[in-house]
Amino acid sequence: MTYGNGSEKKEKRQVYLDYSATTPVKDEVLQEMIPYFTQKFGNPSSLYTVGQESKNAVSLARERLANLIGAQPREVFFTSSGTEADNWALIETAHARSSKGRHVITTKIEHHAILHTGEVLEKEGFEVTWLDVGKDGLVSPDVLRAAIRPDTILVSIMFANNEIGTIQPIAELAKIAHENEIIFHSDAVQALGNVMIDVTELDIDLMSLSAHKIYGPKGIGALYIKHGINLPAHIYGGAQEMKKRAGTENLTGIVGFGKAAELAKINLSDHVIQVTELRNYFIEQVTERIEDVFVNGSMEHRLPGNANITFKYIEGEALLLLLDMAGVAVSTGSACSSTSLAPSHVLESIGVPVEMIHGSIRFTIGDFTTKEDIDYVLEALSESVLKLRKISSVSRDSGW
Ligand code: PLP
Repeated sequence: MTYGNGSEKKEKRQVYLDYSATTPVKDEVLQEMIPYFTQKFGNPSSLYTVGQESKNAVSLARERLANLIGAQPREVFFTSSGTEADNWALIETAHARSSKGRHVITTKIEHHAILHTGEVLEKEGFEVTWLDVGKDGLVSPDVLRAAIRPDTILVSIMFANNEIGTIQPIAELAKIAHENEIIFHSDAVQALGNVMIDVTELDIDLMSLSAHKIYGPKGIGALYIKHGINLPAHIYGGAQEMKKRAGTENLTGIVGFGKAAELAKINLSDHVIQVTELRNYFIEQVTERIEDVFVNGSMEHRLPGNANITFKYIEGEALLLLLDMAGVAVSTGSACSSTSLAPSHVLESIGVPVEMIHGSIRFTIGDFTTKEDIDYVLEALSESVLKLRKISSVSRDSGW
């Protein structure tokens, strides 16, 4: 397959630059999981040997995940996803503390797993304050402080944003919540494996996690619950997950999550260096080669692999499709909203004009991305942007 025009035809590559949507399962992770589908398939609740082997595998995975986030194993509860962990944290905290107050604080840039759960709480009669963020995507500690009321029972602020990669000052925000005796939850689905997280140092009460963003399988997540926080169960039935989350364990998923967590811990600093270097090279080259572009979100407090870029005078969906034809996978806004043409709530919150939101693309780089991949994408991107701008019906005189 070739790509490009004229005499300089390039070999077509498949380049995946959507690691924030999901990651491939690493081979070491898959190899660790395989026996648990077939030979070691026992139910962890069964008392005979094959069941106990499964139980031990779940315990090991719990230890590995706890080790990645600086927690104790008894503080890690497996769920079906990051989304479930977010739902559990918000709904059950709100219900359990409703006699103290009915006010919850979160931000306007959260993932839909938090946004829609917050809306459910609003329908139940809770009041939710949706904090504004700055142009850099950061939550100001002063803005949080000003929003706190005597009836505030929960603050939920994401660790790192899925669209623009902004990393929040979590320790400072958690401290403010605790000074006011408020529970602090953080959705760390995007931060896990990309940022050093020590829940003890950061003093987080509840934290949501997901395996498929750290080279583990899909459909398995976890909620960290600090020892002493009395969060009620949210699924009832058997005694699994220390009686807090009933249902026969997703054994292979848990084993995979554990292995992915172990690898993430070992590789964290190398991963950050390698991915940041490629990301910086990519941004530098895009801004050098293509006119009328800008990067969204803080460059300083940013996930290593994230480059969210606005291309003026371009329809992001058209660019996405041209890149796809060239073998390059990227996303407009978050994966969950990539089928909807509603402008990204995150870009709206940082003040990007609606017309420009439609010209914004999220590129996310990961462990399997190479410099050759980036060079290939840079060429495909320059060519595609040029092509679209030539045929664009959107006039540069329209005031953008
Ligand atoms: N929170 C954030 C910040 C995310 O980026 C995602 C997934 O994109 C989720 C929650 C949901 O996690 P899961 O896909 O495991 O449900």
